[in-house]
Amino acid sequence: MRDEKLLPCPCGMQLNAADEDCIYPATRPVYDPELDKMVFKVWELVCNPVYGGCDASVLGDSREDVIAVEQECVAVKYSEFV
Ligand SMILES: [Zn+2]
Repeated sequence: MRDEKLLPCPCGMQLNAADEDCIYPATRPVYDPELDKMVFKVWELVCNPVYGGCDASVLGDSREDVIAVEQECVAVKYSEFV
């Protein structure tokens, strides 16, 4: 199984990739003729303020993509403080 562990947000929140309030489709599903099924084309990952997060969010075109973007963004953020 792929490592989907998210890095903690710079605000201190530990984000959980398995949490549907953290990563979810941002739009309705659309039909993909290549896959012959309905797929979500836009995904959003959010540091959910409901759980005390800072409301930071990233968009991507797949679940894997937002996870990769989150890991990259956080790594960049932390490097700014070094
Ligand atoms: Zn945050």
